[in-house]
Amino acid sequence: MRIAVVGSGTMGHGIAEVAAMAGMEVKLIDISWDILNRAKERMLDSLKRLHERGTIRETPDTVMSRIEMSVSYDVAKDVDFAIEAVPEILDLKRKVFQELDRVVPKESILATNTSSIPISDIGEITSRKEKVIGMHFFNPPPLMKLVEIIPSKYTSEDVTRSTVELAKKMGKTPVRLRVEVPGFVSNRIFLRLLQEACREVESGEATIEEVDSSARNKLKLPMGIFELADYVGLDVVVDLWKVIVERGASDVKCSSYKEKVDRKELGVKTGKGFYTYPAPGKYSKVSLPAESKVPPERIISLAVNEGAWLIENNIVNAEEIDTVMRLGFNFPKGLLEIADELGLDKILNALREINSRGYEAYSPSPLLVKMVSQGQTGKSSGRGFYTYGKT
Ligand code: NAD
Repeated sequence: MRIAVVGSGTMGHGIAEVAAMAGMEVKLIDISWDILNRAKERMLDSLKRLHERGTIRETPDTVMSRIEMSVSYDVAKDVDFAIEAVPEILDLKRKVFQELDRVVPKESILATNTSSIPISDIGEITSRKEKVIGMHFFNPPPLMKLVEIIPSKYTSEDVTRSTVELAKKMGKTPVRLRVEVPGFVSNRIFLRLLQEACREVESGEATIEEVDSSARNKLKLPMGIFELADYVGLDVVVDLWKVIVERGASDVKCSSYKEKVDRKELGVKTGKGFYTYPAPGKYSKVSLPAESKVPPERIISLAVNEGAWLIENNIVNAEEIDTVMRLGFNFPKGLLEIADELGLDKILNALREINSRGYEAYSPSPLLVKMVSQGQTGKSSGRGFYTYGKT
């Protein structure tokens, strides 16, 4: 299997490394040799660590020997698959896809690692829009197992299936969306967590530390919501929020993230966001109060409502949502599994209460309302998003 990876930055060098580790022949393309040489160093460093830990048996040099680097797209003339990971700018991506469409064999698939640009907007520029698909890796690709697979309205079923197979061959766990939605599954649910965290604080119901304490200590999430936002980068957070809401998702009034960005406090990468970190780019777990009055079901209520929306619109099922949250966000359990344990009636009550105060985004999903009215309130009733055996 021969693969081209276009763009060798944060994501591209990691994707190339993953493909080479899986035994594929990789052509890594970027715009300058300086950039490619930096990517080579990063891949070597990472492979050395994986080798020392025993994750890979082959030597780093053996894996690297399968990666050919180039500043010319011509090396992609015989690949079976191309994955684009250039910056998130539509015009740039369209230019890259025109070039790939010209060089890559007509029967080969062209995938984009975009986080937010509609796949059809990219596919339309090519002469093979049924062979263009989204393949959303998580950072860092060698460690994160999840890949969201997003067919556009033009993508053929065969192409989607082949892409799912490719992700598996790369050692990843693919979650395939049946229909494309802005933000895919990962960022839509993340947005809802960010929105509720912000509402908690801006409505004066809780402090930042209380929200995060509840997320970490009661929900057992690896990070608080504001801590996670700092980790991801507040500029990235503001951007994904804007993109998803502009394409139709309901909004929640919030200025906290944007204010930080205006002050150039972008989170871990600048050393300061909602919390202060040891140095720019250096994350360390933030210290939080042990106690918090914030009910855990309220923190996830909007995210669970989004999950219900994704299910009733046949985008993904409950297991798939939970896979995304476990493997993409390191949740110890799936979001909907946690919801089942807390009680869907409690989740619904939290949504109704906030909704009654004029927050339209909290309007409960018909699926959630139906489940609760039928007594499917989660684990204690034997049925919720999942079915439970008698204990
Ligand atoms: P990046 O800026 O780190 O890397 C982009 C690379 O593309 C750079 O090395 C750049 O030189 C190269 N490039 C620019 N123009 C090019 C061209 N015409 N031909 C070939 N190479 C070119 O960006 P990134 O963070 O790796 O993001 C890449 C894509 O992945 C974006 O669409 C982003 O939304 C998506 N993504 C990023 C993350 C993340 O956590 N960083 C996670 C998932 C998806």
